[in-house]
Amino acid sequence: MRARFPALVLALLTAALPPGGTFIDDDGNVHEGGIEAIAGEAITVGCNPPANNRYCPSQVVTRGEMAAFIARALPLPATSENRFIDDDASVFESSINRLAVSGITLGCNPPANDRFCPDREMTRGEMAAMLVRAFDYPAAAGDRFADIAGNLFEDAINRLAAAAVTLGCNPPANDRFCPGDPIARDQMATFITRALGLTANRPPPRPFPVVAVVPREEWGAMAPELERMVPHTIERLTVHHAGSQDGVNGPPQFRGWQGWHMGGQDWPDIAYHLLIGIDGTVYEGRDPAYRGDTGTTYDTTGHFLVVVEGNFEVERPTGQQIASLGAVLAWAAENYGVSPSTIAGHGDYAATSCPGRNLESKIHSGELRQKVETLIAQGGVELLWP
Ligand SMILES: [Zn+2]
Repeated sequence: MRARFPALVLALLTAALPPGGTFIDDDGNVHEGGIEAIAGEAITVGCNPPANNRYCPSQVVTRGEMAAFIARALPLPATSENRFIDDDASVFESSINRLAVSGITLGCNPPANDRFCPDREMTRGEMAAMLVRAFDYPAAAGDRFADIAGNLFEDAINRLAAAAVTLGCNPPANDRFCPGDPIARDQMATFITRALGLTANRPPPRPFPVVAVVPREEWGAMAPELERMVPHTIERLTVHHAGSQDGVNGPPQFRGWQGWHMGGQDWPDIAYHLLIGIDGTVYEGRDPAYRGDTGTTYDTTGHFLVVVEGNFEVERPTGQQIASLGAVLAWAAENYGVSPSTIAGHGDYAATSCPGRNLESKIHSGELRQKVETLIAQGGVELLWP
């Protein structure tokens, strides 16, 4: 493929962005300027159509997605050829064929190379090879990195480094490239920004935090039994813990909770309105318009139920979990017109160790309430529901 730089002309005209920029999940990410740069060129539209207000910065790039990034970045002309036998069901098939016809990819199974492996994670070494073929970077003498000698992609990596498209994988030393590591979408944005000579476009900060709620479909929730759910009006904010941070966690654990709540307990949905994962990601639970459920003796009517993933009798909530908990409670306090003084733990209403002493202490000390009041005083929190 012969390099083309259609975007260069536009590079000087970076658009002024609104506070926080295009996506809500990349605020403060070191690659945010690169993400905005490629969004400005329509090389990415987001990761959650049709809303597309998220970029999913830490999600690993598959080979199929990489093909789409490059096909849009160059851009490559359409083709009617079908080069590979394993991409017919891929949404990226058109991009993959365009790459193949342009000589940017050969395949994933040499020497036959009749496969592309579209669902496999892209490694940094493979990415180097694709970018070098796409942009024709000249040969470079000597190894730039200590960890690439004898690597299949050694030559491509050196070319990429000489072209200043990669700096390395271990700043500030940057004496390694980590060729076998998978590449995440945020890193990809920076690589493409540099490859195209775009200007990183970092947006001004948001005046208040914005928290995205991951939709039920994305964690694999079953549909609720709406006809059995009871509407209520939220009057207080109640914190739970569940599961463990050890072993299976995140969506698989949440599916387990929901399966137990609906199957074992015969409740119409997962008990809680919001779920906070170990990394602070906020997940959609039961519709807050309906009261939750409990295996203990208190009446959940009027309670906004937030569960934090972990066993805080023995584990500790992560800093990201506490930050997200404060944010969602600040949003709920404002949105439902409820005082932060109503923040309590499950154990304040029923005989239970929930939400665990290491989280309960932050409630009883007033630390959590203080965080919530500070966030509200600073302008509040925007919670983006699916
Ligand atoms: Zn509880």
